[in-house]
Amino acid sequence: MSDPLVAAGYVHCPQCSDANYPTEATWITPTHILATYPNQCGHITPCAWIIDTTRCTYQARCTATTRAGRQCRAKPKPNTDLCGTHTNKSRRQTT
Ligand SMILES: [Zn+2]
Ligand SMILES: [Zn+2]
Repeated sequence: MSDPLVAAGYVHCPQCSDANYPTEATWITPTHILATYPNQCGHITPCAWIIDTTRCTYQARCTATTRAGRQCRAKPKPNTDLCGTHTNKSRRQTT
């Protein structure tokens, strides 16, 4: 079982889009995490949330940048930070 702090991911503030990471997280079932998010950016209400990791999409996003300069929002392939499209592209990069 992975580290609940990592598995809980983060929440994006709807106002400033800052990522708010949990300060505490505990597995309460094999697929659910009870995570406490502080008010890091000053806009969200600090609270403990139950995270259904089987339905999480916000925590796993392709980290590549699209041609338009925005973060790719595709779901990454397992064990990678990149979606299928960007995994293929990054193979061609020299860095
Ligand atoms: Zn905010
Ligand atoms: Zn991508």
